[in-house]
Amino acid sequence: MQNPANEAVERFVSRPRPMFIGGAWVESLAGRTFETVDPATGTVLTTVAEGGAADVDRAVAAARKAFETRSWRRMSPLDRGALLHRIADVIEANAEELALLESRDNGKPVSVARAVDVGASVKLFRYFAGWPSKLEGSTIPVSPRGGMRVLNYTTHQPVGVVGLIVPWNFPMSMACWKLAPALATGNTVVLKPAEETPLSTLRLAELLAEAGLPDGVVNVVTGRGATAGAALAAHDGVDKIAFTGSTETGRAIVRAAAGNLKKVSLELGGKSPNIVLPDADPQAVAEAAAQAIFFNQGQVCTAGSRLYVHRAIHDEVLDALAERARKIVVGPGTDPATEMGPLVSARQHERVTGYVAGGLEQGARLTAGGGRPELGGQYAGGYFLEPTVFTEADHGMRIVQEEIFGPVLTAMAWDDVNDLVAKANDTPFGLSAGIWTSDIRHAHRIADDLQAGTVWINCYNLTDPASPFGGFKQSGWGREMGRKVLDLYTEVKSVWVNLD
Ligand code: NAD
Repeated sequence: MQNPANEAVERFVSRPRPMFIGGAWVESLAGRTFETVDPATGTVLTTVAEGGAADVDRAVAAARKAFETRSWRRMSPLDRGALLHRIADVIEANAEELALLESRDNGKPVSVARAVDVGASVKLFRYFAGWPSKLEGSTIPVSPRGGMRVLNYTTHQPVGVVGLIVPWNFPMSMACWKLAPALATGNTVVLKPAEETPLSTLRLAELLAEAGLPDGVVNVVTGRGATAGAALAAHDGVDKIAFTGSTETGRAIVRAAAGNLKKVSLELGGKSPNIVLPDADPQAVAEAAAQAIFFNQGQVCTAGSRLYVHRAIHDEVLDALAERARKIVVGPGTDPATEMGPLVSARQHERVTGYVAGGLEQGARLTAGGGRPELGGQYAGGYFLEPTVFTEADHGMRIVQEEIFGPVLTAMAWDDVNDLVAKANDTPFGLSAGIWTSDIRHAHRIADDLQAGTVWINCYNLTDPASPFGGFKQSGWGREMGRKVLDLYTEVKSVWVNLD
């Protein structure tokens, strides 16, 4: 028997989906569409309008018009907060449908979509609903020449029209990480979801309208990165771009943004070291390390993809880890028993299996997975990959240095803590790291030495709307969430008043 959320998803994918511009649902001006695929079966879910530069133009114009509307600019802080709470309410009321839609479009287990993509988005809007009434400036004790009496104060104002370009790994929550602070600070938005996973964002746009968001405040242009994404990044009418995705695309966005010197914030790739000290519990660490890499099929920028285990417990941890990896239930995301779903696309599957082949060629030892699981039936064409563990890897190997963005773990033994820290830091990335030990003082010392925007001690992948998130080095620019993100979406104005 169909449940109501399932029926709603079937209805949603039963017809082609237009884009959302200026409060209206529109086709692309060129009349083009593209297909979005169910990664569990490899079959087409539905077609979506393929926006191009001309569609970006009209979305930016709609966002500019909405930004200049008095009712949006001058909305009282408490009313803006109430609007963000209403958005959280409508997401919550439609949570099961959104989670199922996300699972179908991305492939992830519906439990992950429920908790992270949808549940975390609700929390985000609730957290940022509190901020509009707390965006305080300061009065500054200045010392002007000649003893002139002046008042100098600062205010925080929205940047203007912001372009949000988001990836496919957590489609809805990555959109909400940016939308909630952008709206809380009074900006208007053009949002481009990834071409692999546009559906939850389109459904979210319907819900934003239902929550009472004025027309044009959020516009969604669906389309490809090289066309719609590039047009948005280069657009002279856009004041800021917030991007999450690969480091390569981040570089392209920085170049495109140079034309009008728009502000840019970036959340990019990672190759996070997960460090195990000799006093850690080997069985517990094996379970935690499996979670850190295989969660969301390893398609997580913070995935604990480099596991450094002290030689004293290396073999015990690795044996338990390989056993755990072999037992992970791989299947379609919509099956409640599934622990790991398919990768997002055929292209990503090919990319990740290329790294597995490369690891073998370069001489690493495969202790679990590496192949395509036999699921059969309608899932025979799905983009599944077994949870994969490599050991005996050298520091210079590509599987140690490059972001794979799939369920592939590379483990290495270590002896000397200084050498360990040097290796942990020796990649272009600096997004996150994990440390497992019962010696908490030692953990703090290592945490202090690591070049990473987030360090988790005896836990992994925890995030919270109140805690800043972002990367050192080539993992990005700026910090999302918490009070830090408000700087990314506001300009500070310093006002001087002659009191004499
Ligand atoms: P990507 O960076 O190319 O895509 C992310 C977003 O950027 C998408 O919305 C895409 O349409 C858009 N985009 C692509 N090219 C653009 C351009 N020139 N200008 C503006 N926007 C553009 O990521 P991908 O191609 O889907 O995946 C490739 C690799 O990127 C993955 O294997 C993984 O290593 C990495 N990745 C990282 C993250 C992360 O959160 N760190 C997320 C997704 C992908």
